[in-house]
Amino acid sequence: MNKIKNIGILTSGGDSPGMNAAIRAVVRASIYYDIEVTGFLRGYEGLINDDCMPMDRKSVANIIQRGGTILKTARSENFKTVEGRKTAYENLKARKIDALIVIGGDGTFTGANVFAQEYDFPIVGLPGTIDNDLVGTDFTIGYDSAINTVIDAVDKIRDTAESHDRLFIVEVMGRDSGLIALRSGIGVGAEAILIPEANMGVEDVLHKLEHSRKDKASKIIIVAEGDDAGGAFKVGEILQSKYPHYDTKVSVLGHIQRGGKPTCMDRVLASRLGVSAVEGLIKGERNVMAGQVNKEMIYTPFDHAIKHIDAEKVSSTWLKLIDILSF
Ligand code: ATP
Repeated sequence: MNKIKNIGILTSGGDSPGMNAAIRAVVRASIYYDIEVTGFLRGYEGLINDDCMPMDRKSVANIIQRGGTILKTARSENFKTVEGRKTAYENLKARKIDALIVIGGDGTFTGANVFAQEYDFPIVGLPGTIDNDLVGTDFTIGYDSAINTVIDAVDKIRDTAESHDRLFIVEVMGRDSGLIALRSGIGVGAEAILIPEANMGVEDVLHKLEHSRKDKASKIIIVAEGDDAGGAFKVGEILQSKYPHYDTKVSVLGHIQRGGKPTCMDRVLASRLGVSAVEGLIKGERNVMAGQVNKEMIYTPFDHAIKHIDAEKVSSTWLKLIDILSF
């Protein structure tokens, strides 16, 4: 087995709280195992533009508690082209980088998979996305922080909703996945949630409101941005016309869900996964995502990790829980 001597690291796609903790863990573990680390800026754009810097112990000091990513992130259209990936490969070779660790979501791993196959290049991925929509890890880095941000925000909304007897429609992130809506909905005691996976529609929400507790002054409906119902404002319009006696308000939480300090759960997960990614590369793992399932560190091939729907994560049991608790 060839000894890995220089690992390149990058963060790609949407940022998530805990990416910095993951970068720190990769850098510190690499130094521990006598491997050099090169940090590429702005995701795959950094590989193509050869925009990078050497990383040492000190370069990752005092970042474990910071949101965002010190390596910056970007979406790179160039990396989707054959020429873009060729330039990236030539830059890596010129710098004698013999493996990559990429931190991102399904798009990042799709790109890594294409590149790894084209150039037979060892890559290990770390699940860095607030969406929690990857197969092969119970939780992604950033998910816990994001749902806690949602809970903080909706608790505040609940105070004003309760004072004014209001019905609030709160839109949370999740273009293809309702997992942020699902957990935060349970955590805030929502009356109903609308998520792309369940395909329920506003009719279902109407039904739930009809049957929910009449003595409850405030009502909260959580809508994932990717739900087919047409977005929180559309849902708000329909509910307002059906329930004119309710003062219906819409709140779109937006990018606050990506920011802020990572929770302890995310810092520890990122730290474990970062070390696991380096150790995986040393042991010969390639084209896999490092994940944590039932407390164990495991590696899942990219093409399986990006399969999106993890039936366990969006099971009808979770949806029923919301029905039971709001009854
Ligand atoms: P998030 O889940 O937070 O959105 P993500 O990793 O899914 O993160 P994307 O923007 O979907 O974010 O993907 C990140 C980058 O991965 C893209 O900007 C592009 O550079 C690369 N990428 C995605 N799909 C491909 C592909 N088919 N071929 C090559 N590169 C790709």
